[in-house]
Amino acid sequence: MKTTVRLILGDQLNPHHSWFEEVNDYITYVLIECWDEATYAPHHIQKVAGIFSAMRQFAESLEQKGHHVHYSNILTSRNKSIAAELDYLCVQSGIQHLEIQEPDEWRLRQILESIAREGLTLRFVSSEHFISAPGEFMRTFEGKKTYVMETFYRKLRKRTGILMDGATPFGGKWNYDVQNRKKLPKNHLPPPLFLPETDVSQVVADIQEAEIPCIGALKDPKHFYWPTTPEQAWEVYEQWLAHAFPLFGDYQDAMTVKDWALYHSRISFALNTKMMDPLAVCRRAEEVFRSREDVPINAAEGFIRQILGWREFMRNIYEVRMPEFGEENYFGHDRKLPEWFWTGDTKMKCQSHAIGQSLQHGYAHHIQRLMVTGNFLLLAGIDPDEVDLWYLGIYIDAFEWVEITNTRGMSQFADGGWIATKPYVASANYMKKMGDYCDNCVYNPKTKTDEDSCPLNALYWDFFERNRDKLGNNFRLGMVYRTYDKMSSEQKQAISAKAADLLEQINEL
Ligand code: FAD
Repeated sequence: MKTTVRLILGDQLNPHHSWFEEVNDYITYVLIECWDEATYAPHHIQKVAGIFSAMRQFAESLEQKGHHVHYSNILTSRNKSIAAELDYLCVQSGIQHLEIQEPDEWRLRQILESIAREGLTLRFVSSEHFISAPGEFMRTFEGKKTYVMETFYRKLRKRTGILMDGATPFGGKWNYDVQNRKKLPKNHLPPPLFLPETDVSQVVADIQEAEIPCIGALKDPKHFYWPTTPEQAWEVYEQWLAHAFPLFGDYQDAMTVKDWALYHSRISFALNTKMMDPLAVCRRAEEVFRSREDVPINAAEGFIRQILGWREFMRNIYEVRMPEFGEENYFGHDRKLPEWFWTGDTKMKCQSHAIGQSLQHGYAHHIQRLMVTGNFLLLAGIDPDEVDLWYLGIYIDAFEWVEITNTRGMSQFADGGWIATKPYVASANYMKKMGDYCDNCVYNPKTKTDEDSCPLNALYWDFFERNRDKLGNNFRLGMVYRTYDKMSSEQKQAISAKAADLLEQINEL
């Protein structure tokens, strides 16, 4: 007789959760593929297929270990919402206790809390995934006006002992970011990517039969190349450590049309679905760094900071700032997303490449998300709701807690500066400096107001001028405003007219 149901969400595929330490005949583990979860954003087909495939294999692995599992397939689940399906299952089998690992997403937390009713008790337990908790985060910033990633990161370095020599940071410095801004040398290509293989044809056939509307491409479902099991995820990571880790730092911010992942690890999907443990990932990186002479400190520290620093910081910001955070729109932006964001069909080579590869792979590396697409969207004043929906749907690793903090916060500055101390925006100068996007582009990166000038240039200056009341006093932007103020009034007028013209015909750029 089963008395308890334990729900496992699609992003809770942690094989080391204490739930699974013992086999218990009174417990049924439930995994549900449902319509609402697959359609709350226009998801990339690789994201839906990747999650469903990982869930199906996770369920099988639990069964092999002797656990009782109920799996609601997208074609067999009777209800569109996860709450309704769960309630139905509990009623059918007379279950009175429901246990749930705390969902990361605010949206799901609301939905699942609504299930409690007379005769059905609900108990939330930790997902045992994150390295830090909101309590520790709040205590760190008690009495402070702002939350600073670096402060929290150093605290976690000290607590975990990662990259520490006693009480001092390894190498004497906490942060080696200044060394991590190199452009790729001409004709330099990163080592070939290690791609795992899973046959997801059946999953894709089910998604199609269920008529889930998806975006993006999945060329060969027999050879799906994102990790769908913890073993595959660790293999991707080990291969990356062996071949790409040493240059991760140097080329972290580089961009090129010749490659889609460069020296990035591509483990975000496995981390966010909890197939990988973030602390174990950081410890392994440190172990490799300490045992190999070819891995420099700027690579090791740079990589570990992304996970121990940024990822934990974003998760805690989400915890303490939602739901208000999801409504913020500091600049009052309300323009619609350009149509070419759904096709990549634009003459701007940087945008076309970053969007094109996102549609093709469900992936873009950090600097493409921040300084290519995010940059354009902020300069053009696109509604942050539209921006969020795009990022949430297109990336295989997009779950609201880490998507919205990066998009609305870091990239769009819609929170007015909780996460970033100044807006991350750039003109074509930056594109030219950091990559090869401007080579053979129809737009000229060097001019601002000519017929063929790169749109980023006029939009960049116009952005600062039209937001002077909100940004003019930001001490990090003094130089930008001084440069603008030195321009002649004719030049300023030409910039403003050019920007208006560009925004008018935004769908034709
Ligand atoms: P690597 O460059 O190899 O970095 C290693 C790991 O560090 C990543 O796997 C990730 O877990 C972590 N990491 C790196 N940067 C960040 C960051 N800023 N915030 C949190 N974790 C970070 N990341 C997501 O996981 N999901 C998202 O939906 C997402 N949306 C983003 C939207 C925008 C506008 C921006 C600017 C960034 C976004 N990021 C998001 C952060 C980052 O771009 C991705 O984590 C990274 O590109 C994933 O690729 P990777 O595994 O190859 O990362």
